[in-house]
Amino acid sequence: MTAESLATGAYLVAALLFILSLRGLSTHESARAGVTYGIAGMAIALLATIALLFQNAWGAPQGMLGLSLLVAAVLIGGSIGLWRARVVEMTGMPELIALLHSFVGLAAVLVGWNGALYEPDLSGALKDIHHAEVFIGVFIGAVTFTGSIVAFLKLSGRMSSKPLMLPGKNVLNVGALVLFVVLTVWYVLTPDLWLLIVVTALALALGWHLVASIGGGDMPVVVSMLNSYSGWAAAAAGFLLNNDLLIVTGALVGSSGAYLSYIMCKAMNRSFLSVIAGGFGIEAPTSSDEDHGEHREIDAEGAAEMLSGASRVVITPGYGMAVAQAQYPVAELAARLRERGVEVVFGIHPVAGRLPGHMNVLLAEAKVPYDIVLELDEVNDDFAATSVALVIGANDTVNPAAAEDPGSPIAGMPVLKVWDAENVIVFKRSMASGYAGVQNPLFFRDNTQMLFGDAKDRVEDILKAL
Ligand code: NDP
Repeated sequence: MTAESLATGAYLVAALLFILSLRGLSTHESARAGVTYGIAGMAIALLATIALLFQNAWGAPQGMLGLSLLVAAVLIGGSIGLWRARVVEMTGMPELIALLHSFVGLAAVLVGWNGALYEPDLSGALKDIHHAEVFIGVFIGAVTFTGSIVAFLKLSGRMSSKPLMLPGKNVLNVGALVLFVVLTVWYVLTPDLWLLIVVTALALALGWHLVASIGGGDMPVVVSMLNSYSGWAAAAAGFLLNNDLLIVTGALVGSSGAYLSYIMCKAMNRSFLSVIAGGFGIEAPTSSDEDHGEHREIDAEGAAEMLSGASRVVITPGYGMAVAQAQYPVAELAARLRERGVEVVFGIHPVAGRLPGHMNVLLAEAKVPYDIVLELDEVNDDFAATSVALVIGANDTVNPAAAEDPGSPIAGMPVLKVWDAENVIVFKRSMASGYAGVQNPLFFRDNTQMLFGDAKDRVEDILKAL
C-alpha cells in the first residue's frame, strides 16, 4: 500500500470524524464528545499530511525544504495558537474567532496567487478550470479576509458597531458582484496577472464594505456568515491544492456556517439575503433619543428580600454576565433558591453574548443543570406567571423597543419579554446602551428596578443577604 492511499484512507476517517463532531456539537449533552471527535479528526489529518510530505521529501532537496518550512510553520503557528488559547478571556473569544477566520481567508488568497504564479502543466478544459479555481478562490478568500478583520475590529470595540451607510451602498455591492463575474470569464479566456490584481483589490474592498455596512444587532449573523465564507475559502484552496480533505472540511464548515446563519436570521426575524448582501435594503434607523422618564433603583438586600418571597424566578443572562464572570455566583443563586422551593429557570436568547451559544457555555461551565436552561420560545409565554425576572448583564436581548418601535434599529428582532413578569431587576453598571447602541425603555418601566454595579459583586451580595 502506498503512502498516498494510506493518506487518502486517513483523510476519509478524519472527514467522518468531522461529521460526527458537527453532529455532537448540536446538543449540550453530546457537545463534549463532539469536541473530542473534532480533535481526533484534526490529529489524524495533520499526521497523515506530515507523513505524506515526509515520504515525498525523502531524498529530494526541494522536498526537504518544503518539509522544513512545514515543521517551522507548525511549531511557530502552534505555539502562538496555544499561547492565545490559554490567555484568551471568554469575552474575547468572538473577536479571536473573527481574527482566525481572517487567516483562513488570507491563506486562500495566498494559495490562489501561488496557483497563478506557478501554473501546473495543464491543457484544454482542465487549464480553464484551474484558472476559474484560482480566481474564485482569491475572491472568496479576500472577501473573508477583510470582512473578518472588520468583524474583529467591531467585536473588540476598536470600530463603531453602527452600520456604515455609504450612498448607493446596494448598487456598490451588486456592481462589485457583477464585475467579479465579468472578470472571472475574462481571466479564464486570457489569464493576465493584472486581472488577478484587480479582483484581489475588488474583493478586499467588498469584504470591508459588506461587514462595515451591518449594524451591531446583526453582527451575530455576520460572524457565522464569515465562518461559512472561511469554509468555502478553504474548499477553494482544497481544489487548487488537490487536497480532498480540505475540500470536504471546507464544504462542511461552509454549509454548516451558512445553515447557522440562516437559523440565526430566522431567530432574529431578519432577511438572510439582506444580511449576507451587507444589509441590502435596510435603511438608516429613524429612532430618536426620546426621554423615557426616571428609573428606579434597588439594593442587594432589597433584591434578596424580593427573591425570598418569589414563587417563580426567570434569569436572563447576557453579555455583561460574561464580562463579570458572574456565572458561578449566578449558578449558586439559582441552586440556593431552588433549595428553598422557588422554581428557577434560565431564559437564553439565541444571540445573547457575543457568539452563538455563549451563555450556554458559561452556564455549563458553572454546572447549571441543562434541564432548567430554556430557549427563548420555551420561556417567553411564561413571564406573565413569573414573580421576578433577573436580567443579568443583558440589554438588547430584553429591549421592548424591538417589539414596539418600528423605527428602532433592532425592530422585529424577537426579545425576551421580561417586562411581563411581576418584577424585573436589571443588573448592570450604568444606564449605558447595549451592543446595538439603542436605548432600552425596559429600564424605565414601573415594574423594573436597576441594581447597579458589577454583576458578580451584586449577585454575591444577594447571596450574602439571603
Ligand atoms: P448587550 O451587549 O446588549 O448588553 C450587555 C450589557 O451588559 C451592557 O448594557 C452593559 O451595561 C452590561 N455589562 C457589561 N459589563 C458588565 C458587568 N461587569 N456587570 C454588569 N453588567 C455589565 O447584551 P445582550 O447579551 O443582551 O445582547 C447581545 C448583543 O450582542 C446583541 O445586540 C447581539 O446582536 C450582539 N452580538 C451577538 C453575537 C452572538 O453571536 N451572540 C455576536 C455579535 C454581536 P453597563 O456598561 O452599563 O454595565
